[in-house]
Amino acid sequence: AKRNVLITGCSSGIGLALAVKMAKDEQKRFKVYATMRNLAKKDALEEAAGRRLGKTLEIKQLDVCDEQSIKTCVNSIPDRRIDVLVSNAGMGLIGPIECQTIDEMKTVMDTNFFGLVRLLKEILPDMKRRKSGHIVIISSVMGIQGILFNDVYAASKFAVEGFCESLAIQALKFKLQLSLIEPGPVITEFERKVFEDGMKMDLSAADEETAEMFTNIYLKNYKQIFQSLGQSAEDVAEHTVKIILAENPPFRHQTNTLYTPMTTLKYADPNGDLPIDIFYKMVFHHDKIFSASLNFIKLLRWRSRKSFDLGKPSQ
Ligand code: NAD
Repeated sequence: AKRNVLITGCSSGIGLALAVKMAKDEQKRFKVYATMRNLAKKDALEEAAGRRLGKTLEIKQLDVCDEQSIKTCVNSIPDRRIDVLVSNAGMGLIGPIECQTIDEMKTVMDTNFFGLVRLLKEILPDMKRRKSGHIVIISSVMGIQGILFNDVYAASKFAVEGFCESLAIQALKFKLQLSLIEPGPVITEFERKVFEDGMKMDLSAADEETAEMFTNIYLKNYKQIFQSLGQSAEDVAEHTVKIILAENPPFRHQTNTLYTPMTTLKYADPNGDLPIDIFYKMVFHHDKIFSASLNFIKLLRWRSRKSFDLGKPSQ
């Protein structure tokens, strides 16, 4: 039988790429419920889904910040059966906290963290009753490691990771699977929107040194980082499908092998100083080392054909 897959945030980026990839599965193993907050933005997904639309892919409205819309969407699925939930909807926020309002920060937490909580409050009880289901969360490397000027975004993803780490223990008892997908930089609308908002940001509330740091160091390097390290949404979707099909899916999966040396630093020093120190040096002292490492990464990228093995897929 087909597995019912519900994905949030499918009007663009990773959600769209994943929905289409799963709907086009040659073995027709999935029925995809591709959801989005605003159905007026469904054209790109409809076009990419092509003849799968209405067959292996259905588009539904779901706003992760609106409990009622989640309930209505889940109720519209036959027997409310969701075998795989992909919590993907999310938003970014960059800049000095002095220049962000508490309301802006709350919206990020509400979308990235409480969005997941709302989905699970509606879907988890059914999965527990059936003793089957896979919960897949598009987290981020920023769910395990903070980055300059991403304070609130990283906090929202840390919240997601702490929540899931706690829930995973209970999930095991109900034979449910839980997987956190942790992409590094991905070239999507997200990155474009976040950058544009950063460029437009009113920095008058910040001191000169902070404003300068944000504009001349962070924003200046932003595009370069995405260009040299960035993955495509399709690439992340491919990793996600492998996790969904894996016999024993891992709890955490980083999609970007070029980024893993950074996250490894976290585990290399129990005091937690090492990654902070390295990031500091990269950003403030060793501009040349920073560009040299980006060039090195480009070389690695050219050489590595992103091969990864997660064991044999189930079925
Ligand atoms: P994206 O902006 O293309 O996609 C995010 C989607 O979420 C959009 O379609 C947006 O409309 C939707 N969304 C926002 N608020 C919503 C709400 N309240 N209800 C329903 N949908 C809502 O960007 P993306 O890169 O594809 O992001 C997908 C996920 O990947 C996010 O959780 C993001 O945090 C994560 N991620 C992105 C990157 C990156 O660099 N782009 C890196 C790591 C993780």
